[in-house]
Amino acid sequence: MSYVDEVIELVVKQNPSEPEFHQAVKEVLESLRPVVDANEEKFRREALLERIVNPERQLKFRIPWVDDKGQVQVNTGYRVQFNSSIGPYKGGLRLHPSVNLGIIKFLGFEQVFKNSLTGLPIGGGKGGSDFDPKGKSDREVMAFCQSYMTELCKYIGADTDVPAGDIGTGAREIGYLFGQYKRIKGVYEGVLTGKGLSYGGSLARKEATGYGLLYFTKEMLIANGMDIAGKIVAVSGAGNVAIYAAEKATEMGAKVVTLSDSTGWIYDAEGIDLDAVKEIKEVKRARLSEYKNYRPNAEYHEGKGVWTVKCDIALPCATQNELLIDDAKALVANGCKVVAEGANMPTTIEATEYLQSNGVIFAPGKAANAGGVATSALEMSQNSERLSWTFEEVDAKLQRIMVDIFHNLDAAAKKYGFEGNYVVGANIAGFEKVVDAMLAQGVC
Ligand code: NDP
Repeated sequence: MSYVDEVIELVVKQNPSEPEFHQAVKEVLESLRPVVDANEEKFRREALLERIVNPERQLKFRIPWVDDKGQVQVNTGYRVQFNSSIGPYKGGLRLHPSVNLGIIKFLGFEQVFKNSLTGLPIGGGKGGSDFDPKGKSDREVMAFCQSYMTELCKYIGADTDVPAGDIGTGAREIGYLFGQYKRIKGVYEGVLTGKGLSYGGSLARKEATGYGLLYFTKEMLIANGMDIAGKIVAVSGAGNVAIYAAEKATEMGAKVVTLSDSTGWIYDAEGIDLDAVKEIKEVKRARLSEYKNYRPNAEYHEGKGVWTVKCDIALPCATQNELLIDDAKALVANGCKVVAEGANMPTTIEATEYLQSNGVIFAPGKAANAGGVATSALEMSQNSERLSWTFEEVDAKLQRIMVDIFHNLDAAAKKYGFEGNYVVGANIAGFEKVVDAMLAQGVC
């Protein structure tokens, strides 16, 4: 049996009931075959793959907090510190009822390669809790965040592990977490990114993942002889990534016709009104069904279906496994030419393979959505030098990073004979740097 197959089997055996983690490992290791096969003896001796698929440390702890009725609630908190070979652990905190150890591990594993691709000195980690901020008062969210940080602060720091936002963790949550860290540790340091501008945040961080997705997509289209202007774009999600992806796509001259949330999706043939969406989602924290109050001609549909519309480009920006094989078939049938992932692992392996084998240009999230973590690393740099850069400075660096990521993975794909396969290119380009650093640092 090949080394890759052995390690995939081992991961499934050693991590039962963690299907998302199995999926992420399988997707990465399968595409690394050309590199691993060429170095099999050396990698085996070093147990390199066993080390890569095992987090350096995984923390699981209880988070007790008191709700508005005086009732004590208990949630579970996680932080998985996956790989620190190229820098301090870096990765967001997800607050969503679906969170479990397997999901945090899949996200942390992906983060290792994504962070490597940015070219910046950041290792990979991820955390979160099964706490649901939806429907909670600000005081309840604060009570939860303070309790979470009371435990988490023992394991993080500006030079060891720097968490950030993710699903359910926005500016409000980061503020409460930062306040509690400072209070307990007594230090004012860049221990979190995604902070407010008045206390060490970076301009353009809020927009970075969505904007970066479009900078990447534009470069990929140019390399394939296409232009983004005039294209019809379907976007899923209506959160941080989706909103700013839609904003940049519109600025680039494309027309965004859909968005979705966890209850339904909207279709607006005239192009989504993003001011309305920001008010509904960022201010009122309400459902997308309200969009019809702003644009009566738009359609609102309950449930799934965002991938059934006619579009040239699809940008899944909501959550993992939201684009399944039937969605891939519908996209191809409707003439979609490009899929670029804004979310982490939104497309199943089966759907990805279907898209690629039907000529759809496919950009994996670990490359296409790396603008968020890259700008978080820029926030760390600004915190270290006690300076703030202008929006234009940060945005220019972000554009450069996304363009470089595309060309690095394009080159890696070509080098190993997989021209145009950006999944293989991203995994190999991310892997090579991590492996180099791990081997240089000895058995650790
Ligand atoms: P947000 O919480 O801001 O938004 C998530 C959006 O997706 C919301 O509209 C939410 O619906 C919807 N959603 C969440 N879970 C589900 C589900 N199970 N089914 C259907 N819809 C769902 O998160 P972000 O925009 O920050 O993150 C989106 C994705 O991008 C995630 O995969 C995240 O890991 C990834 N990512 C985020 C980065 C960032 O900088 N924020 C960086 C890189 C990747 P509702 O509005 O109803 O809650």
